[in-house]
Amino acid sequence: MDRNTNVVAIIGRANVGKSTLFNRLIQKRMAIVDDIPGVTRDRLYAQVEWAGKSFYLVDTGGFPNEDEPLFDMVGKQIDRAIEEASVIIFVVDGREGILPLDFRIAEILRRSNRRVIVAVNKIDEPMHEPLLYEAFALGFEDVVGVSAEHNRNIQDLLDKVVMYIESEVSFQEDGETIKISIVGRPNVGKSSIFNSMIGEERAIVSNLPGTTRDPIDTEITFGGKKYLLIDTAGLRKKSRLKDDIEFYSLLRAERAIDRSDVVLLVLDVTELVTDQDKRIAGIALEKGKGIAVAINKWDLLPEGQPKLGDNIIKDVKDQLYFINDAPIVTISALSKRNLFKIFNVCGEVYTRWQTRISTSNLNNIIRDIISFQRLPSDGKGRFLKIFYVTQVGTAPPSFLFFVNDKNLVDKPFERKVINELVKIGDFRGVPIRVFWKNRR
Ligand code: GDP
Ligand code: GDP
Repeated sequence: MDRNTNVVAIIGRANVGKSTLFNRLIQKRMAIVDDIPGVTRDRLYAQVEWAGKSFYLVDTGGFPNEDEPLFDMVGKQIDRAIEEASVIIFVVDGREGILPLDFRIAEILRRSNRRVIVAVNKIDEPMHEPLLYEAFALGFEDVVGVSAEHNRNIQDLLDKVVMYIESEVSFQEDGETIKISIVGRPNVGKSSIFNSMIGEERAIVSNLPGTTRDPIDTEITFGGKKYLLIDTAGLRKKSRLKDDIEFYSLLRAERAIDRSDVVLLVLDVTELVTDQDKRIAGIALEKGKGIAVAINKWDLLPEGQPKLGDNIIKDVKDQLYFINDAPIVTISALSKRNLFKIFNVCGEVYTRWQTRISTSNLNNIIRDIISFQRLPSDGKGRFLKIFYVTQVGTAPPSFLFFVNDKNLVDKPFERKVINELVKIGDFRGVPIRVFWKNRR
């Protein structure tokens, strides 16, 4: 699969069917992921896979701006969409016809230099097809008549979209470069940390030319190791559009996570763990990336109260219990406290992420698991039996357990097994994949 971080935005005026189309396009085409606490599925964007390519689809119709005058509202959506997306699906309503507002939107889109595909919606039956010709007046080459509601021509639309999805530039560095993304909510201090890290006097910094969409990643050599700081669009320069909508910030984080080995989740000591933080951590795990946590702005804690600091760390651990005991560093971008530790901690997570456990250690794990108080059963006296386990992959470490009946495995048991693997393999901050197979 050509894993890709391109963004495709659906825009258009109200009621043309953007949300219906979004839901239709993501149907069964989303990347399949595990359930992780804190990660809800009601996103306004989704990763879509089609014809061997993948992209993020964004439904801008989800912005709640109802009080604003119609054009301001649509205009803002479009500005944001243009800033983020490389391909735009411009939805118009074939039944209502092309309205003056559609022409205004078309004009803005033309100036944006983005690929635009016009989806003429509500072409529910072949007899409606003549309605789509009017849309050619908008001046775009690619016009597809679809019915979001009745699932007509959706595949044609997807074919056109992926035609414009560039293949991601593959990373050229050798395996020893540790790719780190610095992610977190707005204002936790990500840019400050980035700047302090590249300003660290022991660090040797070079910028790598990126693609047109993702401008620049920064390579740093520190303590003899190479790190690549993935540019989470906006680390270096703040977005031109100031907005308080966390929507795109999550999307940006997700795209950066896609491209990294280790995710540095930044928290703000004055706010600590929010649902958004849990989401980001969950996304990193889903994508099989290592995690380290940095609690920033530690300088704001009152001095002489060590207990307070301990409690904060404990609270973060409790809230992020599902990230496999990821290392936590307390830092300050301002005072530069512990900045160099970020390199070390991310480097350690990276090493563990690539570790293979010896077979004898794996056997120890089975022994420990078997001595759990309760092995799952069918309630009729039939218990799970584990015959053997083998590590089938690294980065993330993946394990295949051969058992008598995999249907006996429940979620709590799987969690215990993962915890055991984390302990014995020292996989702190590393996502673990476990698979169950019936031995014949
Ligand atoms: P949005 O405001 O652009 O997101 O539009 P919605 O997706 O909410 O759809 C607006 C209305 O158009 C709803 O009543 C939908 O049921 C209807 N609609 C959406 N797609 C189609 C379609 O393909 N054909 C028809 N006939 N109606 C549709
Ligand atoms: P971003 O949105 O996550 O990139 O956050 P910024 O780096 O722009 O920082 C947001 C605000 O927090 C700015 O006003 C920074 O000066 C402030 N800030 C960042 N790091 C620290 C820190 O370690 N201590 C304190 N006291 N303030 C910080």
